[in-house]
Amino acid sequence: KLAHLPYRKTLEEFDCAFQPSIDERLIRELATMTFVNRNENVLFLGPPGVGKSHLSVALAVEVIRLGVSVYFVSLAYMMEDLRKAYEENRLEKRLRVYVRPKILVVDEVGYLPLDPVAANLFFQVVSARYERGSILMTSNKSFGEWGELVGDSVLATAILDRLLHHSHVINIRGNSYRLREKMRTGVYG
Ligand code: ADP
Repeated sequence: KLAHLPYRKTLEEFDCAFQPSIDERLIRELATMTFVNRNENVLFLGPPGVGKSHLSVALAVEVIRLGVSVYFVSLAYMMEDLRKAYEENRLEKRLRVYVRPKILVVDEVGYLPLDPVAANLFFQVVSARYERGSILMTSNKSFGEWGELVGDSVLATAILDRLLHHSHVINIRGNSYRLREKMRTGVYG
């Protein structure tokens, strides 16, 4: 599967009118790849269903079109994979999978808290990529909640420090697109 994208979504399919908190111009600009050339990160933050994964897949599709290498994973999958490699003494080799691509998309950061081993492995990935490649990340957690997520406030700060130094943070405030039909028909109200 192309870059391990879980599905194919495009920017054209994204209805910006439904999510007015999103700066459409910034999204368009990101699609031109300037962030990739500068090794900047892009973080989509917000509650479930507001389109964070859609936008990260759509940006991935755009940059793949321009010839950039992309690797897409959920944080849970990456952590499980690296933990196994660590236990089997082949961490260094396996880390390359997550360090080599020009863009690493890490989806669904925040749904599962990290134990100390996972937190350390996550830090290693972020550090290894720092100023060398872009990370595109989606999270339902605000930065203030990262201490709890990572289980260690010092490590959380170290990770955020590297992630945010050169980054675009896109806070999406709004309703879940998944629930829009149900809201309209009154199932939720
Ligand atoms: P999140 O990652 O924020 O939980 P998703 O990106 O998975 O949300 O979006 C949930 C579903 O709703 C997906 O099928 C996505 O394509 C769709 N979706 C979300 N926001 C929009 C939008 N503004 N326009 C069109 N489709 C959207």
